[in-house]
Amino acid sequence: EARVKFDSVRFAYDPDRPILKGVSFLIPPGKTLAIVGPSGAGKSTIARLLFRFYDVSGGSIQIDGQDIARVTQASLRAAIGIVPQDTVLFNDTIGYNIGYGREGATQAEIEAAARAARIHDFIMALPDGYQSMVGERGLKLSGGEKQRVAIARTLLKDPPILILDEATSALDSRTEAEIQRTLREVSARRTTVIIAHRLSTIVDADEIIVLDQGRVAERGTHGQLLAMG
Ligand code: ADP
Ligand code: ADP
Repeated sequence: EARVKFDSVRFAYDPDRPILKGVSFLIPPGKTLAIVGPSGAGKSTIARLLFRFYDVSGGSIQIDGQDIARVTQASLRAAIGIVPQDTVLFNDTIGYNIGYGREGATQAEIEAAARAARIHDFIMALPDGYQSMVGERGLKLSGGEKQRVAIARTLLKDPPILILDEATSALDSRTEAEIQRTLREVSARRTTVIIAHRLSTIVDADEIIVLDQGRVAERGTHGQLLAMG
């Protein structure tokens, strides 16, 4: 049974200009799919369709066997967590940004949730744990640290499906490698969709699809795709 299934999905923002011309893939529970392709290929569009920001023009998208056209927005939001490309942080503590500021949640409750989602160590590796202020009133976080906050914020909700939309592509390669190593540890039980610009940034997805001209041009593991050239 697939956690996420795209079956011959077609989509166009403008009827004269199809973006997806029949895209199919399936991701079993706990597996990782990476979507790569040139800028404008439709990678982010796939994430937007999964959230049903737009409806498909043909084919179908299923989550756990259910057509998302028949699923409520609330349950889609509960099922999917997204780490966006550009992170905006509140001018407050790291803890507040991660979820500590949630109405009614005590620090102990957030720590328990972080342990359950297996991100306690990930959070504690941030500068000064998560008590420090960020933004103009406190710490200046590096790009990598901001991404870590964004990833922690999403993982704390423990969504069954996790989407990383070019979430590490703006970082230096050492920070990127470190975040990917952590993600591998914490995402083993989740279905993860990684949307990446460059094939080089995703070595260990279970499957990679290469989008080109609205179609899946290639599919395979990283090693298989490198061997194809
Ligand atoms: P190959 O010959 O490359 O092994 P397969 O037909 O076995 O091709 O499929 C490889 C991948 O293609 C699968 O892992 C799955 O993600 C995807 N796939 C194939 N057919 C479909 C389909 N009808 N719907 C969704 N995904 C599909
Ligand atoms: P990628 O993530 O692969 O860079 P996108 O999915 O963002 O690509 O965009 C795919 C194509 O759809 C691009 O040509 C883009 O210009 C176009 N596009 C994206 N969003 C919209 C929109 N809201 N309205 C019209 N065209 C759009």
